[in-house]
Amino acid sequence: MPKADRLRVIDEILGLLCSRDSNLRIFAACVDKTLVHEDPVETAFEHICLRFDKFLQRVFLKRNDPQRGVVVLDKTRRENRLQTLASGFRITGHRWGIMRNLAEVPLFADSRATRLLQIADIVTYVVWRRYERNEPEFVDRTRRLLPCFDQDGPALHGLIHVPNRSDCLCPACAAQRGENWRL
Ligand SMILES: [Zn+2]
Repeated sequence: MPKADRLRVIDEILGLLCSRDSNLRIFAACVDKTLVHEDPVETAFEHICLRFDKFLQRVFLKRNDPQRGVVVLDKTRRENRLQTLASGFRITGHRWGIMRNLAEVPLFADSRATRLLQIADIVTYVVWRRYERNEPEFVDRTRRLLPCFDQDGPALHGLIHVPNRSDCLCPACAAQRGENWRL
């Protein structure tokens, strides 16, 4: 598909995701491999599972709605490792505690057959181009996604930059510093 068409499709999907009727909540973690010495995929997985668990905890506390979350992942060679990590989060805990609201095991699916995974792929692509290459048009597209990232008042939970840095101007780092990340 020509680049212009690809960008048009991405923009149409972002428009749908961020429409007024959308109640989608996005979680994305960007790990700087040059600064983090742990496995970047496992680090991102742990952060996203933790934020998703906290989101479900908030839903329960605010609405008394005890939902369990299901993590669906694109089929990957790391299936066994991520399964093991996920069950460890529930039983022995992750570095910040024990996750209580996720269903027992993550599901692995073929992204070609799952529309939600295809949407997740597009979000990943947009956020990757923003963080990896700092391209202005993807800085702008990530900004358009901001209303969809999980948030609670001044806190931005759904967009994570690891490690967060005091000199980084991204919304995730600004939120960690207690600044207005919606600007
Ligand atoms: Zn940042």
